[in-house]
Amino acid sequence: MIEAKKINFSYSKNFALKNINLRVKNGEILGLIGESGSGKSTLLKILSGLLSQDSGQILFENEEILKASEKLVPGHKEIKTVTQNNTLFPNISIAENIKYELRYYQKSYQEEKLKSLADLVKIKHLLSKYPRELSGGEIQRVLIAKAISDEPKVLLLDEPFSNLDSIIKKKILFELKDIISKQNIACVFVTHEITDALGLVNSLVILKNGKIVQKGSSEEIYFSPKSEYVGLLTSDGFIINNVSLLEKLHINEASKILLRPEHIFFKNTGKIAARVKHSIFKGSHFEIWFSIENDPDSAYYFKSEIKIESETAISLDFEGYLILK
Ligand code: ADP
Ligand code: MG
Repeated sequence: MIEAKKINFSYSKNFALKNINLRVKNGEILGLIGESGSGKSTLLKILSGLLSQDSGQILFENEEILKASEKLVPGHKEIKTVTQNNTLFPNISIAENIKYELRYYQKSYQEEKLKSLADLVKIKHLLSKYPRELSGGEIQRVLIAKAISDEPKVLLLDEPFSNLDSIIKKKILFELKDIISKQNIACVFVTHEITDALGLVNSLVILKNGKIVQKGSSEEIYFSPKSEYVGLLTSDGFIINNVSLLEKLHINEASKILLRPEHIFFKNTGKIAARVKHSIFKGSHFEIWFSIENDPDSAYYFKSEIKIESETAISLDFEGYLILK
């Protein structure tokens, strides 16, 4: 288990992490989400012991771990980080790269461990190759094998899969979830792509400008965002403040509503008159962009199985939208 308690840290006047509290149990994945520059990587560096917090504690299995500034060699051997960087040695094979992590063990253990890691992350066929012969997804698998080779208790992932194709990424994420639970590792998974995190994590922490603005399960965060920031980070959506529209929906003017594409329904008898602007082909569906009557500059979309011609007048209903305040 790894835990952050009342962590404060600043690089300068411009950016600070403020009062960060979080906890990840063994076998679980915590998703850390926030826009670029919100402090995700900084927080991971503090968790891994590579950067010293100004105040607060990092606890590993209930014991405080030394700050980077208090140690000769920063970092903690039970805590491993994987980022987007390819840290493999280019001139030795994949097998040698992984065995390098196991260099202090007996040869027979190294071979045995290499085999089981290769099985676990599905890279058996790559062991005799060199890093330059591997694709991005294969390299990331090898980096994970390296990171978990010495059986760490904590795995910190800083957007390691962000530049992979979506199908390969999904496959690796499923495998990762399996590994985390089989090896009973506590994992923090940082991403700015919420769709990667929603189905993967046991809980989510949302960072904004160095502060935690919401914590909860994926469902809680998705269905009950506390703010516009969280609402729009978790899905496409629109903030509605058109007064006449709010009136039609019988919503108090002071409220702010968050409308997601799935809240908008095309209905002959719908309460809201709209005009179609564009239909964008998305493969499995069309995104129908429209403006609301009396507000020609507004732009929202809903998903439709059929294309609708531009300038068509349609009527819509909004159901299940979220009221933010
Ligand atoms: P994220 O990973 O969420 O994109 P970071 O933790 O990398 O965010 O950065 C948070 C803020 O701290 C940003 O404003 C960034 O410019 C700043 N920052 C990051 N690293 C340093 C550094 N070494 N020195 C000064 N400022 C930094
Ligand atoms: Mg980052």
